[in-house]
Amino acid sequence: MRILVVEDEVPIREGLLDRLGREGFEAAGAPDGETALRLAAEAPFDLVLLDLMLPGIEGVEVLDRLRRHGDETPVIVVSARAGEADRVLLLDRGADDYVVKPFSVRELVSRIRAVLRRRPAAAPPGPVAVGEARVDLDARRVTRGGEVFPLTATERGMLALLLRHRGYPVSREEFLREVWGYDRLPDTRTVDFHVVRLRRKIETDPENPRWLKTVRGAGFVLEPERGA
Ligand code: CA
Repeated sequence: MRILVVEDEVPIREGLLDRLGREGFEAAGAPDGETALRLAAEAPFDLVLLDLMLPGIEGVEVLDRLRRHGDETPVIVVSARAGEADRVLLLDRGADDYVVKPFSVRELVSRIRAVLRRRPAAAPPGPVAVGEARVDLDARRVTRGGEVFPLTATERGMLALLLRHRGYPVSREEFLREVWGYDRLPDTRTVDFHVVRLRRKIETDPENPRWLKTVRGAGFVLEPERGA
């Protein structure tokens, strides 16, 4: 597993590279956003650890550029900025997780492993129709109305879970356990933000979802096709 550590502070970067190496990862470092984007374009990584406050291009911009180019490599943001607004913004922009500095390296490593575990287990083979959309978990994308929407690792994991339980509600806790790999986040609204992102990809009218519906008190359900 190859991990890119984007961090301008040398002691933190070197410390992480050393620790990740000892954990069995192949880790590379980038001191700034330009280097990170160049390295990511040269050869794909399995995961990116992204500091927000960087010289030159900021971390948020690095994330945007990766996603804009269809790069859906899982990204864990590592930042001293702890505000909920920041966290929400980043998840909304396609970050997979968020760790606040100062962090425990042990916790960070377990988050890395959790994100890397987000694989669609026993998902239906081949593309699946969801209303107007076609969901292709293997290709990690949704196509709808001639548009292609790449899926992040998190979104793919969520869709796999929803498809596995199609017609039955999946609770926020189940999402966290099955997709995120841990039982508790600071709040379960993280799941809701990713649902909003998924709706933009699947639904013709994301504000009035027909397929990925909220079930009050129970979570979210992916409606079965009519007649199925
Ligand atoms: Ca920094």
